Amino acid sequence: MNKKVNIIILIALLIIVFIGILEYEISENASIKSDYTTEEEINQETTTANEKKESLNKIINTSSLNNEKTAWWFNPNKDHTTPGINDNLNYDLHEYDAHYVMDTDRKVLHLTFDVGYENGYTSQILDILKVNDVKATFFATLPYLNENPEIIKRMVDEGHRVGNHTSSHLSMPSLADNEKKFNKEIKDVENKFKDITGKDITPYFRPPMGEYSQKSLAMTKNLGISLYFGVLLMLIGILIINLTQ
Ligand SMILES: [Zn+2]
Repeated sequence: MNKKVNIIILIALLIIVFIGILEYEISENASIKSDYTTEEEINQETTTANEKKESLNKIINTSSLNNEKTAWWFNPNKDHTTPGINDNLNYDLHEYDAHYVMDTDRKVLHLTFDVGYENGYTSQILDILKVNDVKATFFATLPYLNENPEIIKRMVDEGHRVGNHTSSHLSMPSLADNEKKFNKEIKDVENKFKDITGKDITPYFRPPMGEYSQKSLAMTKNLGISLYFGVLLMLIGILIINLTQ
């Protein structure tokens, strides 16, 4: 097995994909569209930012909300339709600005990576993304920011988004009864990102281990950030092979 294949397999193991399209569509369209390069998409982002500002005013009272921990999962299927998710929830994830697919009418795939710690591969991933003009979102923890400021700057310089993956990578429902601690998990990352780059971090959040509760979702929304779950897709290795050819 040559080095390139090894790298691709490692990337396949590391990557978490947030999908707006399905696997068969990916194989039909070997290229990935950058997820926010067109004017239409930039306008959409502006609209979303404005909507977010409006929703910021609507602070949810979280005191009576259920804090039962739920694990993130999805139901893959062979029908080429959007995967289903946990249908035992008695609330809608969208109420809390939590998402796992975007507009499924559009053939856009959102590449997201969780960067909890650096194991020497992020620069190679950035190289591949750069060569192929693909933008991604990297969800970073505080230790990652502390230890890899140069990589974070490179992500920003090369047009990627950096999102929030908390300070200590703890399950958010376990912190939801202590609002100060809960908010600190998120704010410390925001502050460190600003120290490094001089910019505000993207208001996107990936909950550690994919664990959430109705209460933790509401508390996250009250901080004005959107939550994005990932869909683990090992077949992404095939996609990266296409990209590198
Ligand atoms: Zn993680």
